[in-house]
Amino acid sequence: MSETTWREDFSRVLSPVFGAPQLELVRGQGSYVWDAEGRQYLDLLAGIAVNALGHCHPAWVMAVTEQAATLGHISNFFTSPPQIALAEKIHEILNLPTGSAVFLSNSGAEANEAALKMARRTGGGGRPIIIAVDGAFHGRTMGALALTAKAAYREPFAPGVPGVVHVPFGDVDALAAAVNDTTAAVFIEPIQGEVGVRRHPPGYLRAARELTSAAGALLVLDEVQSGIGRTGTWFAHQDPAIGEGVVPDIITSAKGLGGGLPIGATITVGAENTGLLSAGQHGTTFGGNPIACAAALAVLTTIESEGLIDHARRLGEKLTTELASIPGIAEVTGQGLLLGLGLDGENPDAKAVAKRALEAGFIVNAVTPERLRLAPPLTITDEEIAPFLAALPDLLTHD
Ligand SMILES: *Cc1c(COP(=O)(O)O)cnc(C)c1O
Repeated sequence: MSETTWREDFSRVLSPVFGAPQLELVRGQGSYVWDAEGRQYLDLLAGIAVNALGHCHPAWVMAVTEQAATLGHISNFFTSPPQIALAEKIHEILNLPTGSAVFLSNSGAEANEAALKMARRTGGGGRPIIIAVDGAFHGRTMGALALTAKAAYREPFAPGVPGVVHVPFGDVDALAAAVNDTTAAVFIEPIQGEVGVRRHPPGYLRAARELTSAAGALLVLDEVQSGIGRTGTWFAHQDPAIGEGVVPDIITSAKGLGGGLPIGATITVGAENTGLLSAGQHGTTFGGNPIACAAALAVLTTIESEGLIDHARRLGEKLTTELASIPGIAEVTGQGLLLGLGLDGENPDAKAVAKRALEAGFIVNAVTPERLRLAPPLTITDEEIAPFLAALPDLLTHD
């Protein structure tokens, strides 16, 4: 469809909440997508850390199409082989203790909503306070939104879900002052994605675990963006340098898990946490859908068979070194294939850089006005990413 036509059609029939789309994309393969004019783009964002296997990976396509042709949907009055196989695989990659359990839903926000309901049941209920960290992003539904730090996202929809307190980023003393026997849970992203890919200072996660344990509160790790191999371990907190050996009570996952089909998971560690919700206290029509589960299972088994976790770590290390040496880049944050590029200069304009990149055939994300985010498919190769590294100095400096 010609550019003017799809733009007009979009604005006539679709919601304006996302702003005007940058492109109309018609096809994807591996690390690339194409628009209707046949222009090719290197996808360094992967649907925001979703297309873990890139676009149309044969194993993913086969799993989805075979499942669609076998059994597409059933209600949660029933289970299906892909649902059980996926949950078993999640238990395996997290090495979960007996009694742990997976609740399947359809998105990151929903995974966090389930965790919120579990938090409300901590200690049999009656603990009103849930703590989140400044800079956090946990989703856009009303509960997840209450946890999300950015006031501009929350304030137009006040009153929000009550009881949520935001603590300053990286401040152990502030966290210690906030956590007490009224606290139901502390929600933390091991790596904060939407604020520009940021790690907590050393000791923070460990302190959060000690404080929540002592207070009888839950520690919920939101790994919606940082999980599924992206940072060089299955989940970011499994890297001792990030997770500091902490065992959370609940882990939430989504984005990369389905490799492009909608799925979320709320993982309770141990029988006590699994018991926070009893039969009938939560539900979802589509959660655990056979096709979404088959897709997720294909993602996890392919990550394993293709060695993509080690690949993400190695390529991330190489990219970090190479990007940090490019003039105009002040710092590189994150790990593996979840990287934030802090731009140099007095008035950095990440949006303008992302626009020039798009015109040059590279999809990157201006995650904040000063920072770019890279979250390419885990399957991306050194050779595929080389032209971007070569083009970047020019993209950073030339209007
Ligand atoms: C994207 C994201 C969410 C929300 O996921 P949706 O699928 O958009 O609802 C929650 N937490 C984190 C850390 C995210 O990056």
